[in-house]
Amino acid sequence: MKLSYILFLAALLSPVASGLEVIDSDAKHSKLVTELVVKKILPILNKLEISDQAALAPVKIKVVTNLIASDIALSIDGELPRVLISNQFIEGLDAYAEAYTVAVHKSSPNFPEHYFHQYFWHTHPDYSGIALDSPMNFSELPPSQQEILLKRKEKLLESALMDIVLHELGHHAENAFYSYRTSYFVKKDMELLADEWALNVRDDFFAELDPIGRLLSIAYVFERDRWSMLSGDVNYPRMITWIADNADPVCEDAVEDHVRKFCEQLQNDLSIYFSGKAEQAYRDRIEQGDEYASFPLAQILLKKSRYHLACSYFKESHDSGNVKRAAVYVAWCYLNGFLKPSPPDAQILALTKSRAAMMYGYTDTTRYIESLNQNYRIQ
Ligand SMILES: [Zn+2]
Repeated sequence: MKLSYILFLAALLSPVASGLEVIDSDAKHSKLVTELVVKKILPILNKLEISDQAALAPVKIKVVTNLIASDIALSIDGELPRVLISNQFIEGLDAYAEAYTVAVHKSSPNFPEHYFHQYFWHTHPDYSGIALDSPMNFSELPPSQQEILLKRKEKLLESALMDIVLHELGHHAENAFYSYRTSYFVKKDMELLADEWALNVRDDFFAELDPIGRLLSIAYVFERDRWSMLSGDVNYPRMITWIADNADPVCEDAVEDHVRKFCEQLQNDLSIYFSGKAEQAYRDRIEQGDEYASFPLAQILLKKSRYHLACSYFKESHDSGNVKRAAVYVAWCYLNGFLKPSPPDAQILALTKSRAAMMYGYTDTTRYIESLNQNYRIQ
């Protein structure tokens, strides 16, 4: 009797009665988004303008696992207004926030690139190896430090997720919807409306959130684009236009020290990515003792048809940098006589390396070596 009375009272007082809610789903991060909406957004709903309250009341938020990979989140208007958020994206964002805290702690700005080299393989359909380490474990930090950094990560992730949720609610509050056929300029206007609404609400009610929010999403997407570009892979969507459209406005307003630093690093990475400076940047990193850097350098050299040099860096990254994916390339290098010894002895080494690559979990090994043969026809 007593329990049902409490439940009744809770239902009566619960802000969920105002409408906006998260629909339960099997998605791993559904709970996290529910907590965020209940803890942060529902309590401020009745402080918004009446028109905003009316627009948001019928909205249901859902974390889904089948949102196409290019979408971070999606707002749908009509009879059943919805906000759909990609579970896969939250997963990546979670890992990025963690990798970023490690990078800051270790003063190692290239740590996220190294970590996400592993990450994008582990979430790739052509991979079925051992489970992926978290950024903390990958960095081999002692547990006492991990605990502190994980708390910092939670805060960053909360800010980044709030940015996504508020932006989508902004589409609903401002009735800023469009279809795939809408022109780029109209789309941009609609996005701006949603952004401005989100920014105002954030300023008015959530001043405590870390201002780095959206930058984490941008940096994560950048990391994914860079990975795809270097490996010539088409599994993940390329979103370079979205990165460019979003990075500048956020960084222009950056005041706090850590945000300005983040922007500096991101803009530096972007300018290298957009120009021919990447090769030199990786060479510099190798000089400074970054053993992972020989792998992306080799990928760039391969694209430039500098096979011998590319192969020596692939081998180095496999032997010294422990970059397992390099085994696939090294096998190809032996097959084509770009590493000593020359064929036919090299055939055995090639076979050993391709077996190793398959053991690591790269199920596309044979197919990929074949595609390298096709793409780089040796005279
Ligand atoms: Zn939007």
